[in-house]
Formats: sequence, structure tokens, C-alpha cells
Amino acid sequence: MTTSSTCITRFAPSPTGFLHLGHAYSALLCQQAAEKQHGRFLLRIEDIDFTRCRKEYEDAIYEDLAWLGLRWEDPVRRQSEHLAEYQNALELLRSRGLLYPCFCTRKDIQRELGNANPTPATPDEALYPGICRNLSADESQARIAKGETFSLRLNLERALHSIGDQDLSWHDQKLGQQQNRAHLLGDVILARKDIHTSYHLSVVLDDALQQINLITRGEDLFTATHIHRLLQALLDLPTPNYHHHALIKDEQGTRMAKRKKSLSLRDLRHAGHSPQYIIDRFAIDD
Ligand code: GLU
Repeated sequence: MTTSSTCITRFAPSPTGFLHLGHAYSALLCQQAAEKQHGRFLLRIEDIDFTRCRKEYEDAIYEDLAWLGLRWEDPVRRQSEHLAEYQNALELLRSRGLLYPCFCTRKDIQRELGNANPTPATPDEALYPGICRNLSADESQARIAKGETFSLRLNLERALHSIGDQDLSWHDQKLGQQQNRAHLLGDVILARKDIHTSYHLSVVLDDALQQINLITRGEDLFTATHIHRLLQALLDLPTPNYHHHALIKDEQGTRMAKRKKSLSLRDLRHAGHSPQYIIDRFAIDD
């Protein structure tokens, strides 16, 4: 029988392209961690971004992971089937005054940042300069009534203030205890204009709902964990352990990415390689 101390891990790919070697590494590490501790391994499909996700890629995820020898529990949670749950959490945060509508386009933000050239928290994310943070409720309402589209951002200062001196530290299996540095990400978007939720919100809720207690994922998401830890505190959710593993690089020494069409698992399979060839390549002991 499952007890709360059972290790529960998950691999949570987004079906926006074919899985590559980096995904295989991450999925195998997750499964291995669960196996070592006689725990459970779950697969979750993170398909909230309907502008980029495709069924064809989702089907390929099942096929490629099964080929690799992975087995996961049924049913697989698909985020697109749980949008109402994300809305409830947003409503909770909104009712506590922790969110604000942001009407900015990328260009608006770029213009405001000007040539100051701030160091982005992640390669993809520059800190939001707060243009809409202090709009009055009347102004926001008027713009919404006019049909302007908006995202919902977390008011970071208020959020931190609202949890008082609650401990926001978290533990990484490789790097040890981490003090929270939510400031690295600033006022993140929790509901995008088009999809009305976000990676940060959905991932935190799902991990809690699925009782995941060990999150194994690439070190590119290390910074995001600071915001996830804050969201856990705000939504009164448990704190899992983390293992942010090194990223697998391609022959040129650069990070693999679906958009770069890095060597996909299917390319390797079609080239005649066996799953064992891939597993041996990683020498998994991270
Ligand atoms: N869905 C995310 C991705 O494919 C991973 C999310 C996570 O592991 O937290 O990059």
C-alpha cells in the first residue's frame, strides 16, 4: 500500500516536439529514483500551451518512452483536462490581492527596459519592470471593458509580505539546502493572455495533487523552483524534494532543444540504435 513516505516521482514533458536525448536522461533518472526506493513513477503531459502542443507529439511521447523501457501508471494526467483547477487557484490568489492584470506586450516591456540591459533571471525571461503593477482598479477595469487583453502577474512583494516569516527554503539532492530567491524571477505571469494559466501555476498544483515528493528535472528549471516554493506556501501545498540534474549537451557542446531539432529518440531508433545504447551513453549515476 502507498504511504506518504513512498517516493513518488514524475516525468512531465510538453508535447511541443519529439523527445530528445536530454528528455530520455531526465525520464530515466526519474524512474530510477522511484525504483531505488520502491516508489512510484508517474508521467504527466504538460499540454496547456495549445498554440504549440500537438497530439502527434503526445502520441510520440508514449511510444518513445515505452521503447526506452519506461513504464508508468495509468491514467496519465493531461494538464489540458484540468484547466478549472488552475482557475480555482488563480481565483484564490486574486481574492487575496496578490495578482494584477498586465496589459503589456513584449514590445512594451522591451521599450521600458530600454538599453539598461538587465541580467535576465533565465535566458528567456527578463525581470518585468512593473509597468502595470500600480494601475488603479478603475483603470484596469476600463481597459478590460474596452477589450484589451491581459495576463495576470504575481505581485511578488505583496506575496512575500503575505506569508510573513514562513520558511521558504527547499532542498536539492545535488546542491543541498537552498534559501529562497524568488526575487530572481520578479512578478511572474501566472495566467497567460492566451491560455489563462501558466507553467509555474499548473506545475505546482499538479505536483501537489499528484503527491509528488521528488521532482527530478533539468537544471535549467532551478531558478523557477524559487517561485514554485513561494507558490506552494501561498497555496498551502507541501514542499517536495528536488533534484536538478545536469543537462545533456549535443556534439557541439550546446544544450539540446526541441526547437533546434536535436537528435530525437526516434531518429536514434530509426538509425538502428537500441534503448540500451542510449542508457549506456548516460551511465546514469547522477
Ligand atoms: N514541461 C516542462 C518541460 O517540458 C518540464 C516541467 C518540469 O519538469 O517541471 O520542459
